[in-house]
Amino acid sequence: MAPDTSVARELGIYVCPVCKLGLRQEEGALRCPTCSQAYPIIEGVPDFIREELSLSTDPVLRRMRFIDRMASIYETKLWYPMILKIYGGLHSPSLEQLIDTVSQKVQSTKGRLLDVACGPGTFGRRVASPSKEVFGIDVSMGMLRQGAAYIARENISNVHFARARVEALPFEDGFFDAVLCCGSLHLFADTTVALREMARVMKPAAVLAVFTFGVGHGGILKFRRAREWSRKDHGLHVFERSELERYLTASGFKDFQPEVSGSILTFSARKRAA
Ligand SMILES: [Zn+2]
Repeated sequence: MAPDTSVARELGIYVCPVCKLGLRQEEGALRCPTCSQAYPIIEGVPDFIREELSLSTDPVLRRMRFIDRMASIYETKLWYPMILKIYGGLHSPSLEQLIDTVSQKVQSTKGRLLDVACGPGTFGRRVASPSKEVFGIDVSMGMLRQGAAYIARENISNVHFARARVEALPFEDGFFDAVLCCGSLHLFADTTVALREMARVMKPAAVLAVFTFGVGHGGILKFRRAREWSRKDHGLHVFERSELERYLTASGFKDFQPEVSGSILTFSARKRAA
């Protein structure tokens, strides 16, 4: 059977997350000619994570089986809207409003967008258009599988999924015209390491659009004790605005523009020119 050229083109975009060099396409895998590591393609999704995350010291990654299992309820009333209200406050924006806010930040962007920790493509597949090709990465194969089912059911093209960690993105330097990071920046073990790797794959002046949690006046996160407990037991980092601005500056970003509603923080920033 002749290889599907659109799939071959898509797979040809990825690089080794360790070496950052091109990969060879083999039967059911991508192989790095430099370090010899093979990355399996599972149900059409390349898997760039070779470690067993359930053994991780990171409390977020260790819960991967739970995250895999909740993929099917993630966008229903049972999860996202509830989390927004409990953590962000009763007057926090709805998921639809958040999608709108984030979409506006990348409205004028044309080209390639990276959706970091995309879940089932909650934001990315709604931003994708004929002029916006979206690459979603997530650590959870359950979420990516759900995302693939959604884009098939909703007949959305121009969205691709890969399993990868934010700290080791399988893309070359300066590849993206914009990056989305929605509902996950607060979960990364080291914010600066994550932001630096995002900056690496962005073109100069490309936009970073984020929704995360910030110290504000809504939900349980307005209480310092709740923030400390979330951090310690769940690896959830609730950002002070000044702290986040420091991380962004240290990671190669400028033009930090935050908006806070309850304890929900959305912002955009731009990658500084080298
Ligand atoms: Zn390699």
